[in-house]
Amino acid sequence: MNQTSYIGRFAPSPSGPLHMGSLVTALGSFLQAKVNNGKWLLRIDDIDPPRIMAGAIESIQVTLKAHGLIWDDDVILQSQNSQYYEHILSQLSRQNLLYPCECTRAQIKAIGEFYSGTCRDKKQIQAPYSLRIKNQFNISQINDVRLGQLEVNSNATQEDFIVRRKDGLYAYHLASVADDINLGVTEIVRGEDLITATACQWALFKTLGKALPQCLHLPLVRSADGRKFSKQNHAPALNLNKTEENLIIALDHLNLPVPKHIPQQTQAILDWAIQAWADSTP
Ligand code: GLU
Repeated sequence: MNQTSYIGRFAPSPSGPLHMGSLVTALGSFLQAKVNNGKWLLRIDDIDPPRIMAGAIESIQVTLKAHGLIWDDDVILQSQNSQYYEHILSQLSRQNLLYPCECTRAQIKAIGEFYSGTCRDKKQIQAPYSLRIKNQFNISQINDVRLGQLEVNSNATQEDFIVRRKDGLYAYHLASVADDINLGVTEIVRGEDLITATACQWALFKTLGKALPQCLHLPLVRSADGRKFSKQNHAPALNLNKTEENLIIALDHLNLPVPKHIPQQTQAILDWAIQAWADSTP
């Protein structure tokens, strides 16, 4: 069997049902994994309990299956991985790369939009505090498999970003990088809205002495007024009675218009898409 060591993942947050934007990311990451004879993992980013919508963890799985997007191995729940996040935090702490920060969002905003290291050298911190990483890398370029060399012009990538929040919850960058390392993810496929996040996460990979995975950022689905499709913008949930139609629309967003002669069945559409994606990949 032609087995490569490609490991990809789709990592939705269970803050609501999947919408067309999520389907494009799910499909793009699925196609990349298939074309590379790799594994496609499903990781549910449920580290932020207040943002979890009841039933979303189940509905995400039902929706993916209905569209023929079947993942490999068991579903990974970030809520089960605290031990590993603590392990990474203690590694950073041993390297003397963490510090407590008591600044509020309002205080940071009052000084400028980004955090400038106010608490780095403070001797006394009043609880509650978040933990920030001393960011030694200013990642200003990333190499994207689809888009090539990207300049990331954001102060956010220079920031000492938060790795554990004031409420004790693990921050997204920390949990995501920890899991991508732990799962051996070789390529991260996600939406273009996360390009800056990728640059911050590259700094964390480097700090931890880990090789960078590849990355591929997919086009965003926007509503008529140009805003990104998201749960916050009330993007409608995917209609499970229209899975073929949904796949065709998602493939259009990925620049793979499905020809009319392809049977209107999810499996036939996916089989066609895998071949078309392989042909369109340089
Ligand atoms: N769970 C996050 C999201 O749905 C992050 C995904 C990722 O890290 O690729 O936007």
